[in-house]
Amino acid sequence: MTPAPEHHPALSATDPELARLVGAEERLQAETLRLIPSENYVSAAVLEASGTVLQNKYSEGYPGRRYYEGQQVVDQVESLAVARAKAVFGVDHANVQPYSGSPANLAVYLAFAQPGDTVMGMALPMGGHLTHGWGVSATGKWFRGVQYGVRQDTGLIDFDQVRELALAERPKVIFCGGTALPRTIDFAAFAEIAREAGAVLVADVAHIAGLIAGGAHPSPVPHADVISTTTHKTLRGPRGAMLMCREEHAKAVDKAVFPGLQGGPHNQTTAAIAVALHEAAQPSFRDYAQAVVANAKALAEALLARGFDLVSGGTDNHLILMDLTGKDVPGKIAAKALDRAGIVVNYNTVPYDPRKPFDPSGVRIGTPSLTSRGLEAEHMAAVAEWIDRGVEAARKADEDALAAIRAEVVDLMAQYPAPGVPVA
Ligand SMILES: *Cc1c(COP(=O)(O)O)cnc(C)c1O
Repeated sequence: MTPAPEHHPALSATDPELARLVGAEERLQAETLRLIPSENYVSAAVLEASGTVLQNKYSEGYPGRRYYEGQQVVDQVESLAVARAKAVFGVDHANVQPYSGSPANLAVYLAFAQPGDTVMGMALPMGGHLTHGWGVSATGKWFRGVQYGVRQDTGLIDFDQVRELALAERPKVIFCGGTALPRTIDFAAFAEIAREAGAVLVADVAHIAGLIAGGAHPSPVPHADVISTTTHKTLRGPRGAMLMCREEHAKAVDKAVFPGLQGGPHNQTTAAIAVALHEAAQPSFRDYAQAVVANAKALAEALLARGFDLVSGGTDNHLILMDLTGKDVPGKIAAKALDRAGIVVNYNTVPYDPRKPFDPSGVRIGTPSLTSRGLEAEHMAAVAEWIDRGVEAARKADEDALAAIRAEVVDLMAQYPAPGVPVA
């Protein structure tokens, strides 16, 4: 493809090779139907804020307590982001400095546990995150991770198991939340168990923060002691993270992020987080959050009608986990075929998956990106049809069928321009 130098004039002049790659990625994001549930399209305003001269600053410390001079403006930027986070989520305290979700969670361990302590989270193959104490992660190597899951018959979190495990193992920290959970998280139920077990409850809402901000998922406030979130998933901000908590934990959380774990904050990201939170406070963001869920429910219905097996039987949020065992196609084969058809998904384990994590039975999809482009519930029948035809084409290795789907996808996506993505 031809790059569009007018969109990035300095970059095109200095480094045409990299500019060409940026142009290619812009085209990919414009043309394809992106169904990765952890991805989105940030607004042009968020993109602009993250590419500013705030990039040039060092500012270790916190507003009013820095180790560098020249913070007259940076202090205001960070204070604005913090104030907006507190207002949007209704929390006492917010730290907007974590570089991303994984370091944010590491800071939580640093604040509330010692190496070797027992910590508890959802098992990765059940839908948890690596950083919730899974073995290959530092959090599972430096702490003793004990893991809960979902019931095989319902696909729902087994609270009897969570309580039993928590009371038997007495973890210092319990994480709730995950990366492949299609259902509402019962924060009150987790809080009751954490209280009984004497554990700190951390709600990791990385995936659903935007739904919470928009009133489309219940809030973990006041149930969780600490709330951890990325800012780049449904919240639709830059790649980054936040930790929020009640006042009693504010010092411990701040000290863990800096100087415990990190050096200077990424001020260009802090600025973009502030913009994203400003957007999240607008009435239109509530409409977006409701539409993300409405689209996911409509897509789940359409997939069920086409005989797809969905973990937990459907969705309450932005995410759908499909078990393709009954379609006779492994998740990876399906995901790669759908990618060739212009539909971007990821292969994923399903609970009790008999296959290996690198070649699992499932595919994970979600509706944040297509909702940000303005697709509505009425389009979900077509999306389900493409997925159905794509999976069937994967089974038959029918490349012509995949190419035909791609042409239809590109055609529809051209009618719904992606926020922030310049069209060549
Ligand atoms: C995405 C995610 C993370 C990690 O975020 P990164 O920014 O990729 O490090 C942590 N926890 C949950 C539940 C997530 O979904």
